[in-house]
Amino acid sequence: MSGKSKTLWNPMVHPGVPGSHSTLEIVKGDGNYVQNREGQWLVDGVGGLWNVNVGHNRTEVKDAIKAQLDELEYFQIFDGVTHPRVKELSDLIIEMTKPEGMARVMYSSGGSDAVETALKVSRQYWKAIGQAQRYKFISLKQGYHGVHFGGASVNGNTVFRTNYEPVLPGCVHIDAPWLYRNPWNCEDPEELGQLCAKQLEAEIIFQGPETVAAFIAEPVQGAGGVIVPPANYWPLIREVCDKYGVLLIADEVVTGFGRSGSMFGVRGWGVAADIQCFAKGINSGYIPLGATVINERVAKGIESCENFSGAVMHGYTYSGHPVACAAALASLKIVQDEDLPGNAAVQGEDLKAKLKNALSDFPSVGEVRGKGLMVAIDLVSDKKTRTPIDPMGGFANQIAAVALREGVIARPVGTKIIISPPLTIGTEEVDKMVAALLQGFSEVDR
Ligand code: PLP
Repeated sequence: MSGKSKTLWNPMVHPGVPGSHSTLEIVKGDGNYVQNREGQWLVDGVGGLWNVNVGHNRTEVKDAIKAQLDELEYFQIFDGVTHPRVKELSDLIIEMTKPEGMARVMYSSGGSDAVETALKVSRQYWKAIGQAQRYKFISLKQGYHGVHFGGASVNGNTVFRTNYEPVLPGCVHIDAPWLYRNPWNCEDPEELGQLCAKQLEAEIIFQGPETVAAFIAEPVQGAGGVIVPPANYWPLIREVCDKYGVLLIADEVVTGFGRSGSMFGVRGWGVAADIQCFAKGINSGYIPLGATVINERVAKGIESCENFSGAVMHGYTYSGHPVACAAALASLKIVQDEDLPGNAAVQGEDLKAKLKNALSDFPSVGEVRGKGLMVAIDLVSDKKTRTPIDPMGGFANQIAAVALREGVIARPVGTKIIISPPLTIGTEEVDKMVAALLQGFSEVDR
């Protein structure tokens, strides 16, 4: 039965091509499962949209939301006004990001907002310290940073820009640290890390270091196909940024709070960014919330500016929404108490190993890769040349449709199938996901 609505425009599909729409309608959630309109319970293999990290229907989060609604459903934080939950959450986030040296938090309503804030605050930093000519952003091909004009400008996939151009001037893209497909045909992780860092340095020099505001990237690229950088990549990128004074922005909208198997994505590489963007896992999606955190360098640069360039002329009606902050406090307590980053690491390895074992021999499976509970199956038309399948051919959709019939939601994204379940999953859900996808490939890839 179709869940289609005549009055709704869904994101990421053509409204005039109904055949491109999913027919899935979700009516209920509980733990690692959601129920469709037909009454079937399905493993939530996409974790909502990479965000329901603590699982669905958690009493602790719902109780916190209800209590906050009874106490104070909303008040603004403009002009220095505060409320208890926004203060508590800010203290908690700064405590949690202490190893990365983070110092201040700015709030918004989601990931695109958090990225927009990061790009704007990095430009403001340079103006505040008297280097207004530093306005350019460097980012990665295949990167995804949301859909606002800033994020769309630094996105590394042109489909998110072409219908909305012109976008921001001064945004350039370099190659992602992608071992499976890179322009150098490099198969050695260490060498690839070096090549990518050298390319960043060359681009900074080409642009003129005095014009570059920041380099922005996801610690592990998510929507672009779960691209996991080599071990030396982030330390080398940090070195290059430091050499030229360029700010490093880690877009942790997906990786923040455990999904990649450590509390933060960059922590997995032992590196600290200057700015981190959070959303999704910050409160497991129970209520929209985004946060952008900045380190002492950025904070002090702006705070010690004696003219108007220090004024934060940025923020939203829903910045620090009390109910969203209450949900975040409850959700992050679960993330810490249940060591969900640890579970993501363990279950992610198990899932990846079992998927590799079950699927690697299918002609269309080029690679199974991932880190923590970010996993992708890369689909190819030729295994040897690693040529991606035709994204318009509907192959990934057909696999996902069989998996759905078998009780598992997996996400077809162009030439990949992406799996990003709640961080609370165990062996039972891992095995169900593997079995459903195996059935999908057995039926479709013959
Ligand atoms: N940044 C990254 C890395 C993302 O994956 C996303 C969304 O998937 C965003 C930003 C945008 O977040 P939102 O959809 O909440 O605006």
